[in-house]
Amino acid sequence: MRPAAGLAFMVLVSVACNEPASRQGEAERVPEPAAAPAPAPVRAPPHTGEESPPIRKDGTVYAESELMGTRVSINVWAGPPATADAAAAGLAVREAFAEMVRLEEIMSEWQRGSELSRLSDAAGGAPQRLSPELFAVLKRAREIAEDTDGAFDPTFHGVGQLWSFKPGAAPPSAEAIAAKLSLVGWQALELDPVAGTGRLAKPGMKLGLGAIGKGYAADVVSQLLVRKGFPNHVVELGGDTYAAGRKDGKPWMVGIQRPDGPGVVGAIPVTDGSVVTSGDYQRFFEYEGKRYAHIIDPKTGWPVPAERSPKSVTLVAKNGTDADAYCTAVAVMGVDAGFQFAEAHEGLEVVIVTQDDELKVTSGLRDVLVLPPPPDPKTPPGASRAGAVDREAVLP
Ligand code: AMP
Ligand code: MG
Repeated sequence: MRPAAGLAFMVLVSVACNEPASRQGEAERVPEPAAAPAPAPVRAPPHTGEESPPIRKDGTVYAESELMGTRVSINVWAGPPATADAAAAGLAVREAFAEMVRLEEIMSEWQRGSELSRLSDAAGGAPQRLSPELFAVLKRAREIAEDTDGAFDPTFHGVGQLWSFKPGAAPPSAEAIAAKLSLVGWQALELDPVAGTGRLAKPGMKLGLGAIGKGYAADVVSQLLVRKGFPNHVVELGGDTYAAGRKDGKPWMVGIQRPDGPGVVGAIPVTDGSVVTSGDYQRFFEYEGKRYAHIIDPKTGWPVPAERSPKSVTLVAKNGTDADAYCTAVAVMGVDAGFQFAEAHEGLEVVIVTQDDELKVTSGLRDVLVLPPPPDPKTPPGASRAGAVDREAVLP
């Protein structure tokens, strides 16, 4: 990630969602600052031969869809409108969505026949041959699990499968959690790079890639768009964002959603980097007066307790895979330990919103984070303001 001088488009990062058929963590869309009213977003189901999304007045092509249990979007800077090739950009965007579908079919723990599910089903048995994509993401997942001392752990799903975070859900019993806890442990994920195989050592173990898969998909799709001739774009999957290149020569702006919304707590200019948010605020249920949110401490099998949980963590890293996994890890570590971890870890920066709405910003971001202006009581809602950033977008 390279912070840079000018500021351009803003994308808003919110919290991702992985359970199927529930769309929580709606990312708030921020209007394009330079363009007069943006056209309605184009739904882009990947398997249909729909018309290409139009090139907008500002030279971008935008489309969104529902995949991986969340909303995903692609915004491509296609060049000055007079010269941009709408058909080529539209085709690239559709291929990008198709690629996301393909990755979801490999990596979803919610699809019974997915490659990941088959690997889990074979736990305790023979090693399974893996696609290069699944091998790559599991390898990095294992490395980050080790680096975070198991705060991020793809085998959390052994116990995570007991939990549902849909509204009205109830926690599993302490006995059920204790019984599954021995199935959690990244050390038992065996990967053989020579044979290209993977294995979970204990029967009953299960893998879940909800905290890394969307970031990985953002990276893969970004590379696809570059290969198709569109090096300037933002790919966003339920709050996991990769911003490549620039928009009209200026960095992309990624806004951090206020956990108590609407508005943003700040915005980060990004060129070739990833910004990801994890939080406890959009995917949770309340039971007997207590809140249970979807990020699980793999050491206990229970959601991160409110005493140490941030409201949200936004993490900046060079790629989406790392940003996604480390962001979840920082959320598990909690406000103080997570902040210290990120501060000490080269290549990671965080903005943490505490339960008291305090902002904790690591040193590498302090001069980069664009804070919203204080609210101006004289400015009526909806009025536009001058400024490098879309000020409407950063108003609290
Ligand atoms: P994220 O939104 O990236 O923080 O990912 C949260 C999702 O990752 C959850 O909904 C679970 O599917 C999964 N998850 C929860 N806790 C963990 C954990 N400690 N390690 C790895 N994945 C987790
Ligand atoms: Mg994550």
